[in-house]
Amino acid sequence: MFVAMDIPSPDDPITFGGNQLDRAALLRQDDAAIDAFKSHKDATVLPFWDLRGLIDIEVDPMLAWQPLKQLRYYCPDDSELLFLGLDGEIPRFAIALDEESDPARDGQLKGRGKFIDVRTVASQLSAHEAGVLAHARSVIDWHIRHRFCANCGCKTETAAAGNTRECPDCKTQHFPRTDPVSIMLVVKGDKCLLGRKAMFPPGMYSALAGFIEPGETIEDAVRREVLEESGIKTSEVRYMFSQPWPFPSSLMMGCIAEAISEEITIDEEELEHAGWFTRDEIAEALERSINSPPGDGLFRMPHPIAIAHHLIRAWLLETA
Ligand SMILES: [Zn+2]
Repeated sequence: MFVAMDIPSPDDPITFGGNQLDRAALLRQDDAAIDAFKSHKDATVLPFWDLRGLIDIEVDPMLAWQPLKQLRYYCPDDSELLFLGLDGEIPRFAIALDEESDPARDGQLKGRGKFIDVRTVASQLSAHEAGVLAHARSVIDWHIRHRFCANCGCKTETAAAGNTRECPDCKTQHFPRTDPVSIMLVVKGDKCLLGRKAMFPPGMYSALAGFIEPGETIEDAVRREVLEESGIKTSEVRYMFSQPWPFPSSLMMGCIAEAISEEITIDEEELEHAGWFTRDEIAEALERSINSPPGDGLFRMPHPIAIAHHLIRAWLLETA
């Protein structure tokens, strides 16, 4: 039985979409304000190592915020500190530690938690904490991969409390990137089109997806990707909802597209197989994706961590 709460909403956000921090973006350039946040008695920092956030796993998993005033013990240079925003009155920061070995296993953070892959832990965290973790991971990963100016090649420096990079030579500012991706459920009557990539677990099918290109609308990208990957022509495209996907910096834009043809010709570089499935087949496979772990090889949909799961659920609800 599907209920409305299963569709992402402000009260029940999609995974990585629940970040409630006040980003206080207008204060990032205000050095006095940022210094006051850094010296706030309750300011905390979330350490990252190897792109994994520090998680407290004592009881239910939660972000292992550390008092910022203790930062000097394990990271004396705070120039790389990333200001994430305000949690009520509490300033929240993140920092990437670049030690060779795991500092939570045999370093300064021993006993403070465990560094866990963001994708692995996300569904066990609160919606807010998963959203904060996604935000921090994307920006930290961007810093690591954008050390040099794309304009002149000089080494860049962090600025705006860790939220931009600046070139000391040509003065170009570089902002964290977000890569738009269209992801779409193609439907025709009571059937929908799903595809599988060779890398998927056995039996799993999902919605088609692809990066939106420069100068392209979301709707055009949907129609192009569907045609390229499956040979199916589509007409009306409806935007449904979106999801930040921090691996490394995608924004998934979920749509439902109406098919006007049925004969499938897959792009074998992208897909191993694609097919039309009935509403009943999909409903059963969706429940399986929640209630039984992959590995049985049976037809299944993506896990609820993925926007594709919610697009499929939204269509089932619409057509109920
Ligand atoms: Zn430059």
